[in-house]
Amino acid sequence: LILSKTSSGLNIIHIAAEMAPIAKVGGLGDVVCGLSKALQRKGHLVEIILPKYDCMQYDCISDLKVLDVVLQSYFDGQLFKNKIWVGTVEGLPVYFIEPDHPAKFFWRGQLYGEHDDFKRFSYFSRAALELLYLSGKKPNIIHCHDWHTAFVAPLYWEIYATRGFNSARICFTCHNFEYQGVAPAPELALCGLDVHHLHRPDRMQDNSAHDKVNPIKGAIVYSNIVTTVSPTYAQEVRSVEGGRGLQETLNYHSRKFVGILNGIDTGAWNPSTDNFLKVQYSPDDLQGKAQNKETLRKHLKLSTSETFQPLVGCITRLVPQKGVHLIRHAIYRTLELGGQFVLLGSSPVPHIQREFEGIANHFQSDPHVRLLLKYDEVLSHSIYAATDMLIIPSLFEPCGLTQMIAMRYGSVPIVRSTGGLNDSVFDIDDDSVPVQFRNGFKFVTADEQGLSQSMERAFSYYLRSPESWQQLVQKVMRMDFSWDTSAAQYEELYEKAVARARASKNL
Ligand code: ADP
Repeated sequence: LILSKTSSGLNIIHIAAEMAPIAKVGGLGDVVCGLSKALQRKGHLVEIILPKYDCMQYDCISDLKVLDVVLQSYFDGQLFKNKIWVGTVEGLPVYFIEPDHPAKFFWRGQLYGEHDDFKRFSYFSRAALELLYLSGKKPNIIHCHDWHTAFVAPLYWEIYATRGFNSARICFTCHNFEYQGVAPAPELALCGLDVHHLHRPDRMQDNSAHDKVNPIKGAIVYSNIVTTVSPTYAQEVRSVEGGRGLQETLNYHSRKFVGILNGIDTGAWNPSTDNFLKVQYSPDDLQGKAQNKETLRKHLKLSTSETFQPLVGCITRLVPQKGVHLIRHAIYRTLELGGQFVLLGSSPVPHIQREFEGIANHFQSDPHVRLLLKYDEVLSHSIYAATDMLIIPSLFEPCGLTQMIAMRYGSVPIVRSTGGLNDSVFDIDDDSVPVQFRNGFKFVTADEQGLSQSMERAFSYYLRSPESWQQLVQKVMRMDFSWDTSAAQYEELYEKAVARARASKNL
């Protein structure tokens, strides 16, 4: 590998299946990029290892070149060759592994959703560790993410550490416990792990399907640090209702488990420099926000006759987690309350997509409602900027980014108090929270009544006086959701783990 550690900072390696903006499906991609950039700014050497997908945004990778080495890695009883590429993404060094394997693991036109995902990502996890081992690097932290690279933790401690590659401590972050990658136990042997040794209740055996192995469980057991993406979600997943079968494992390993709220990329999400907007604006000059509202209403052919008509937005994947029935309810409740509603979202679930297509058609030429059933990055910026409120009625939400982006653009969030929504949104009427932190409207029970009540409170606050609403908008826009705070928490965890390792004279 071409880089080695020179500064006094840590050498941190992320091994992941996603990285924004080149290979992103959801929040995982944003975290890998945003956290890495923030840690780099703090003086650490941060490198990322990704699969070399065919469907990446290659125009966002600079200086991409293939290295003059052939890496051989183990899989299913054989050694396979891999090409190693290196490039720069958002100022970060990234290594890409391209397997020379007949199954063409990363030439599928999509990141996930293939019948052999377990094979694809256990292959990748093994090859990534082999790359680090053969490079002779001595990283301080190897940080893996979600079930796709969860294999790294047992592979490292069971295979590589015993070969003398033991400089690193392993950090594992789970971005959503809904996805665990459970598979029949014998499949674990493909990447070289010993099934008999690991298919046990205290290691990788799935807590419900006893003939299966669970990569997330393996990473919880084998990592030195386990994190998830908000403190409230970290609590929720330790309960029977939230743990998806892993609550016992998390409770047993609770001393190394912590929730850290994600940040957002405040460079990319900045209304005062955002080139996607008709007019840029800041908390000190909100005229531009009003112009963006006017522009979007015209663009979507919504009525513009009432300037002070509240415009409610929703930007989301339309999946059950997001409370789709409550989103539907919010559309009708907004109309009853005299507001306007714009939804930007699409669904991988055919019956949900069909249902929303029906609603979209129904409101096709309505002056107050528009549904846009697609993924559209540019339009999402316009909607954050134009709306007065953003609705997020999730049934569960590990962290959630849209509430933080909305606030940065002066759109006040109306959210269900779950996971990261609970940690970033504080109700205007909650006397137990200092006034300076109150920034939105929250409801507890995931039903229509709870949502309606919080919407009514938001509408009456909006209509009571334009001045007090403007002050609220300015306040939420000034809140700090940058990565700096979260990155400092990861840094502290890393440093403690490294110090513990040194103290135990392992290094
Ligand atoms: P999740 O990762 O569960 O989808 P998050 O709130 O963590 O939810 O992240 C959602 C991200 O995806 C945000 O950046 C949001 O702006 C973006 N997004 C969601 N749906 C769309 C869409 N239809 N068009 C454009 N961007 C979208």
